[in-house]
Amino acid sequence: MNLHIETPLLPSRALSLESRRSVWLKLEALQPSGSFKLRGVGHACTHYARQGARRFISSSGGNAGLATAYAGRRLEIPVTVVVPETTPERATELLAREQAEVRVHGASWQEANELALSLLGKNDAFLHPFDDPLLWQGHAGLIDEVAAAGLKPDAIILAVGGGGLLCGVAQGLHRHGWDELPIIAVETEGTASFHGAVEAGRLVKLAKISGVATSLGANQVCAQALQWVGRHPVTTTLVSDRSALSACERFLDDHRLLVEPACGAALAVAYEETALLERYRTVLVVVCGGATATSEQLRQWRRQTAHQPLS
Ligand SMILES: *Cc1c(COP(=O)(O)O)cnc(C)c1O
Repeated sequence: MNLHIETPLLPSRALSLESRRSVWLKLEALQPSGSFKLRGVGHACTHYARQGARRFISSSGGNAGLATAYAGRRLEIPVTVVVPETTPERATELLAREQAEVRVHGASWQEANELALSLLGKNDAFLHPFDDPLLWQGHAGLIDEVAAAGLKPDAIILAVGGGGLLCGVAQGLHRHGWDELPIIAVETEGTASFHGAVEAGRLVKLAKISGVATSLGANQVCAQALQWVGRHPVTTTLVSDRSALSACERFLDDHRLLVEPACGAALAVAYEETALLERYRTVLVVVCGGATATSEQLRQWRRQTAHQPLS
């Protein structure tokens, strides 16, 4: 049984006109947990359940935690999510809706994560938000669906946080012999841990993460993400918070879907960055989604960033 759904793949008239090429959307925002995370997390949870796990533990107050909570509820396995005190009330509310036990602990994610790991008993499974081959395997299914639909784009645009989505998409591309199909990996300026790693040629740890794209806020990407850069054409690019937010608003009007700025970052490249896409006639945007933003929150962020320049 799959916990995720097969998502719609559709051409965007609005984005195609804006970007003067054919833009397709893979609508991961429609996953029941609100983001693509359910593909990998659902796959991993199902695997751990088969192996006898009696509880799932996560330290993500974001979409990975939500996907774990959703998977646990569907599989009838209890879920504990440890989140730091900084976690917005909206996130704990969404977790509670999925019947997860939410424990608030520590001033930072590191402290919450330490407690989460210390809770791990013999029959518990820990769900990492991005660094687990089971996750990548689950995420790769997204590309299987694109291939099955008969679409082969000239490039794929996706957002990068810890790099789990990128690893899954790259794995999916290779499984279909699409080894040369370029990936455009987008981060915001305040979450550029992948861009920094690619520039340096080794993993780097950001001292500070900032800005509105909270779901991209991994201070270090997984090693596998950097390894893909040696085996697959990957271009990194950065957008401003203001661009990501503006893309969220335009996308809401164009496609009537509210997505997080993490997803807005990827959309911003299709809305704005034509130079990067110059060589491509058909591009696919992974609309990764995100359940933690509200329309009110977007408006607030927009007021805060109104003075900043676009891209
Ligand atoms: C987790 C997440 C990302 C980034 O995915 P990684 O696998 O961490 O790179 C992007 N967008 C949304 C909405 C997410 O939840």
